[in-house]
Formats: sequence, structure tokens, C-alpha cells
Amino acid sequence: MDKPVFSIIAPIYNELENLPLLYARVRDEMEKTGEAWELILVDDGSQDGSTEVIRKLAASDARVRPVIFARNFGHQIAVTAGLDYSRGDAVIIIDADLQDPPEVIGKLIEKWREGYQVVYAVRTEREGETRFKTATASAFYRIIDRITDIRIPLDTGDFRLMDRKVVDIMKTMRERNRFLRGMSAWTGFKQVGVEYKREARHAGESKYPLKKMLKLAMNAVTGFSMWPLELATRVGIGLIALDFIGLIVVIILSTAADVDFHGLATLGIIMVFLAGLILTFMGVLGEYIGRIYDEAKGRPLYIVAEGPEEPFNPIRLDLPPDRKA
Ligand code: UDP
Ligand code: MG
Repeated sequence: MDKPVFSIIAPIYNELENLPLLYARVRDEMEKTGEAWELILVDDGSQDGSTEVIRKLAASDARVRPVIFARNFGHQIAVTAGLDYSRGDAVIIIDADLQDPPEVIGKLIEKWREGYQVVYAVRTEREGETRFKTATASAFYRIIDRITDIRIPLDTGDFRLMDRKVVDIMKTMRERNRFLRGMSAWTGFKQVGVEYKREARHAGESKYPLKKMLKLAMNAVTGFSMWPLELATRVGIGLIALDFIGLIVVIILSTAADVDFHGLATLGIIMVFLAGLILTFMGVLGEYIGRIYDEAKGRPLYIVAEGPEEPFNPIRLDLPPDRKA
């Protein structure tokens, strides 16, 4: 098979009912480009029979390339595997539940042809999602924007097109706790947004419960900002200053104005407050240290149980020797 011009990557975790339509809609859209393409379906440890459907799709169309994980490694890792195995000059990441309409891919490609290296899809409207989800997502994007050191576009998920150059750079970034949209913004290539309406899930339920969303949010923060650590220092210094002022006030009042200071309850409340503050910032430290530990272990990002013989572009071997496998 010819080397494809376009690689479409879809992470799959229990998307049985969505797969046939995903394939059909991606195929119809890609045929319009008149170029060779491949659809990389990364099975992230599905247990609902999606794996079998993926195998069948691959058997009936050689352009479908399955990458089947040994277990569930998480959405960001599944997309990463797709990037590792992709061969196209441009790579498109899309959700499997058809919330990102495949028909938008043409618009992304148009911008790529104009010379942009990252074309991200911006959600102007969202359909069929709970108010809680849209509200938390909106808050998430804005908080990340405030505290991280790079400009990550607002209301933008992983639905995007990336040029081969960007993908090759991302492939050298092997961090375990990943926030791909931050990483792609970090590369600093010529980027542009294309607006689209995010649709309701075609079938099934969201595979992103609050717990996973919080983890992703923490990855975004710790991956791209030291702000929580700096905050600890600032609050610490602020409290010391406050305490010092308090000390002076107490000395003056008790000597000059003869005020008696009792207030065991006040003391208790302040102590608990301080203990809480200290524990909170220890937790912040823990978030960073845990991630350092994760990196130090140096385990592979994912394990492929079944997939293409080898990545067409193996992770670039011009990495420093200590990072080579
Ligand atoms: N997904 C995955 N592994 C996971 C969770 C989700 O590969 O552990 C896939 C899922 O199948 C879908 C995409 O990631 O294709 C986005 O997930 P979902 O639609 O559930 O998230 P939401 O749109 O609700 O944020
Ligand atoms: Mg979804």
C-alpha cells in the first residue's frame, strides 16, 4: 500500500455501536480528498466486542489499521500510540463517538494546505452534554489558560490536524502524564482554529467520568506550569508577614493598652487552618513528586497486544542515547 497522505486516529474504548458509522463517515469524507489515507483504530482495552469489530473492519478494508492494547491505558495514551504508528503527511485526531463530525476534516485539511501546521477544531456549540460537563469544561479551559505558561486555545479538545513535522516532535516527548493539546501548542508551529459544532454522542455513554477529567486537568496543570508550587511559597511568605504584624499588635496591646489575650478557640481554629494549609501544599508537592516517580520508572507508555508489524516511523532514534529504548 502506498504511503498515505492522511492518517486519521481514533481512540476506542467500548465504542461498539459507533464503529461502523465512524468508519463509513470517515471513509466518505476522506474519499473526497482524492488522496491515500489510513484510519488507525487504537483499541484501548475495550471489553464490549469493539476489538472484534475493529478486526473485521481491517479485514474488509486494508486502509484500516488496528492497534490493539493489552489493557486500558487511557485516552491520551491511545492517541499517542496512534501518532507513533501514523504514516501520513498530516495526522487527524478524532473521537470515536462521532461528537467530532468527520465532515469537519475537509475544513482542517483546507487550512493545512494553506500552510498551517496545527489546525485545531474549536467548539462553538455543544449538543447533548450535561450542563455540569459544559460548565466544568469551560472552567477547565479558562483556568488552564490562566495558570499555564503556554497559550492553549480555549474550548478546544484533541480534535485537530497536525503536520508530520509536529507529530515527529511530539513523538520525542515521552512524558507519561500527558496533555496532548498542550504538547501540540507547546511545539509552537503555525497554528489556526476552525470552528465547529460539537454534536451529541452517537451511541453509548461518556468514557470520561469526573475522576478522569480531574486527572487530565492535573496533568495539564503540572505538565505546563509551576504555579501551584510558586503559590505555596507566596502563601507561606504572606502568612509569615501576617503573623509578624499580629505579633507586634499583640505586644503593643498587652503592654500599652493592658489587654488580656485568652481565646483558646481562636488558637484552635488557626492551628487547624494552618495544618490544612500545610497538608494542601504537601499534596501539591505530592502531585509533582508522584509524576517525577512515574517518569523515573521509565516504563513503556503502552503495550500493544496486536498491531502493525512495527511503527512505520519508529520513535526517532536521533534521541540522546540515554532516552533510547
Ligand atoms: N477513550 C479511550 N480510552 C479511555 C476513555 C475514552 O480511548 O479510557 C476514547 C473514547 O472511546 C472516545 C474518546 O476517547 O473515542 C473520547 O471519550 P468520550 O467520548 O467518552 O469523552 P467525552 O467526549 O465524554 O469527554
Ligand atoms: Mg465523547
